[in-house]
Amino acid sequence: MGMDVYGKENDAYFRRNLWGWPQLASYIVDTFPDLTAPCNEWFTNSGDGLDKQQSMALSRAISEALSDGAVAEYVKELDARLDAIPDKTCRLCNGTGIRDDKVGREMGFPDKVVDDPKSPRFGQKGYCNGCRGSGMERPYEKDMRLEVSDVEEFNEFLKICGGFEIW
Ligand SMILES: [Zn+2]
Repeated sequence: MGMDVYGKENDAYFRRNLWGWPQLASYIVDTFPDLTAPCNEWFTNSGDGLDKQQSMALSRAISEALSDGAVAEYVKELDARLDAIPDKTCRLCNGTGIRDDKVGREMGFPDKVVDDPKSPRFGQKGYCNGCRGSGMERPYEKDMRLEVSDVEEFNEFLKICGGFEIW
């Protein structure tokens, strides 16, 4: 699953998966609301997009943000925000590190010794496949990162795409 962005010229094509695209599109839509407004559906595979002139105008604005460091600053702040999200209690074992629901018992987890050296319960009896026995799970949002290079790559696409559709 992901987002395929098809250019109208030069066989231009850009793709991100469902982890990468939302952060990139959010950055662009939030930072350039006027320039991105002609496309209503940035987050669905509906074929919405921008025409050639709109793509060029957006590219000029993004080029400026790249060269004056605004993109780098945004990525830094986003990283700090994501790093600050605390781990959550694991749903499968309610934070005990031992999954003893029906599935867990069928898999023998209550008697399985934790063999992952990175787990705080390494060597202890009782396992959970949701958290590898730690009792905590990492929220998936923490791994939805944006890199300056993502913005650079999309900007290169914008320059040559001649307009695009998001599918
Ligand atoms: Zn667990």
